[in-house]
Amino acid sequence: MGYMPHLKIYTTNFCSYCDRAKAILKSKGITDYEEMNIAGREGMREEIARLTGGRWDVPQVFIDGAYIGDDDALADLAHSGELERMFGMNENSSGNGKGNVDRRDVLIIGSGPAGLAAALYAARAQLNTLVLTGKEIGGQLSLTLDIENYPGFKDGHAGNLIQDMQEQAKRFGAAIEMGYVTEVDFSQRPFRIKTYGSEIEAQSVIVATGSSPRKLEIPGELDYVGRGVSYCATCDGFFFKDKEVVVVGGGDAAVEEGLFLTRFAKTVTIIHRRDRLRANPSIQARALDNPKMKFLWDTVVTAVLGNDKGAYGVRLKDVKTGAEREFKTDGVFIFVGHLPNTTLFEGKLQMDDKGYLIADKRQHTDVEGVFAAGDVQDHVYRQAITAAGTGAAAAIEAERFLAEMAGKAQPAAV
Ligand code: NDP
Repeated sequence: MGYMPHLKIYTTNFCSYCDRAKAILKSKGITDYEEMNIAGREGMREEIARLTGGRWDVPQVFIDGAYIGDDDALADLAHSGELERMFGMNENSSGNGKGNVDRRDVLIIGSGPAGLAAALYAARAQLNTLVLTGKEIGGQLSLTLDIENYPGFKDGHAGNLIQDMQEQAKRFGAAIEMGYVTEVDFSQRPFRIKTYGSEIEAQSVIVATGSSPRKLEIPGELDYVGRGVSYCATCDGFFFKDKEVVVVGGGDAAVEEGLFLTRFAKTVTIIHRRDRLRANPSIQARALDNPKMKFLWDTVVTAVLGNDKGAYGVRLKDVKTGAEREFKTDGVFIFVGHLPNTTLFEGKLQMDDKGYLIADKRQHTDVEGVFAAGDVQDHVYRQAITAAGTGAAAAIEAERFLAEMAGKAQPAAV
């Protein structure tokens, strides 16, 4: 059986709209989904508000982590045929009304700032542009609450930034579809890209698949994900109200997410393998000044300890003395860097020894017509602003490439 998307629906008791949403799913033969009944559960209002960008009503539907909307949105998706396409019920339909194969000038894989900036530039250049969002619209930014360092947004909110980027790209004609690429064929043009349930032919491709949190790879870590172990403070922080949590790592992400956790937790202990933080000085100063934050230096976590109720502690090792001990904690937040999402491109695009795509200064990969942008090709800066910049550059290069292929004059520098 092929890939099946994961559908999650938030519902409550005595909710006719929830029944309507479930009836729509049933009518499409979708019975294998996760229902979260929020009745009597604490923190749900905040969770739903965050996931939906401010709503706190039900039903709310998510597919592979991407926000779909309420029962009306689900109905629209069902009526357009998109829902069936996503669940692979009609392999021959691309959902675009053009026949079996969706043909595009530019296909952008990924919907973080790199992908969405590329979409804006490609669409403005009047190229027939499709963005396949991947599992999370907005990529890593969708896991962040505030953005302090994106110019032009003085009180920046990550959710708004991503939404505005999407709307802006759409305004110029870019199509943005939920879709998860399962296979790429870059051996000839047009390039052929498969998702579950659809096939796309693209004259050029911009890869903006970003990166995902690195795991510690220690005993117990994966056993307690969602039950005490987390890679996202903004997602799971509210479950740790008045609890004691630890954060593993010493970079910007660890310290920033640790600071975020102080909104909920009683104490946040940063466990770092060295005796000083890697995070930038301004954020360090805020952390060191915060009375809820504590620090364990020169220490690594060697195991997550837990029982059937979830994680209750970690095993620690002092890297200088070698001494080991147990440390009680209610939550373990892990921020030890990222790994690029490039599995799909193994053997198809050139990568460095860490698995990042190799792109030149103009975002070209080693396959003509395939470009890379954002974190998938950048392990140095990894900022929303630099990702967006490389996305724009990749789209300009795609436009030039297509013009060259068509024998037209190249567009002037933008
Ligand atoms: P980083 O690579 O910067 O930091 C990873 C941290 O994890 C380091 O402190 C590292 O220790 C530690 N670490 C790595 N592997 C292990 C391990 N196996 N065991 C224990 N500790 C480990 O990753 P981040 O995700 O923090 O940041 C990535 C990039 O994103 C950076 O460029 C950062 O500036 C940027 N970023 C920017 C933000 C902002 O500006 N608002 C927010 C978040 C990220 P050591 O220090 O010893 O190497």
